[in-house]
Amino acid sequence: MYLLREILAQAQDAGVAIGHFNVADLVLLKAVFASARELEVPVLVGASEGERAFMGTHQLAALVRSLREEFDFPIFLNADHTHSLASAVEAVKAGFDAVVFDLSALPFEQNVRQTREAIQALKGINPAVLVEGEIGDIGTGSEIHARAPDLSRSLTTPDHARQFVESTGVDILAPAVGNMHGMLESMVHGDTRKRLDIERIRDIKVAARVLLTLHGGSGTNDDDLRSAIVAGINIVHINTELRVAWRSGLQEGLAKQPNEVVPYKILPAVVHSVKQVASSRLKLFNEGGKMALPS
Ligand SMILES: [Zn+2]
Repeated sequence: MYLLREILAQAQDAGVAIGHFNVADLVLLKAVFASARELEVPVLVGASEGERAFMGTHQLAALVRSLREEFDFPIFLNADHTHSLASAVEAVKAGFDAVVFDLSALPFEQNVRQTREAIQALKGINPAVLVEGEIGDIGTGSEIHARAPDLSRSLTTPDHARQFVESTGVDILAPAVGNMHGMLESMVHGDTRKRLDIERIRDIKVAARVLLTLHGGSGTNDDDLRSAIVAGINIVHINTELRVAWRSGLQEGLAKQPNEVVPYKILPAVVHSVKQVASSRLKLFNEGGKMALPS
């Protein structure tokens, strides 16, 4: 059986990052899984509290588990942006492999104390579960924003990162390094791209010596993503790009067959559209090397 901790260690050694894609329905899950299988790379599927409320925490866990078992494939499940211990406990009990315990909106000391307590509680349920903590501000909402928030004053410092990791014992840290949740309209059209503070990522990695996740990867400059992985990013989150592809695939599927009512004849267009985005991102994250999957 695959363990996320081992897969992440292997990825770090190989110089590649694991792609993390949010899912809110079976179509997204099918598309993400098909991309990963085709490229033979491990993949992390995520669901925020809203996405879990829609799909069902236990139902999503059962779906991902069934894919992992039937195809003997390293697909893992992450409880993305979880804001309460109760919701984190539910996800771990359902079999999620990782939890993003996100109290980044709280003052630093409070974030440290409550994250440390949550780790104890969650590892008490499943010692293998990985817990990710977050410091700094990377905005909210993986959707299309009218204007960019000014996050420049809440970037993560290497000192804070080290302090947070040492005093909480998190397995993974999500820093604010120029990344941001959601996309601007200009990013959807490819006119502008997010830029990352690569130097800061490198300094945080050296200071905190922990696995690092880049949230809000949608719409980021490709070269910055490559450099960020070299600098120490281990997991890259893509959500908004998939949502944009989901919507345009659906519109296309409906427009092409205006009289069709059979879901499984309409929805393959959505799978196709989402899969293209997931595949291109997975290729980029895995450019740096090749992970040998046990066959
Ligand atoms: Zn995020």
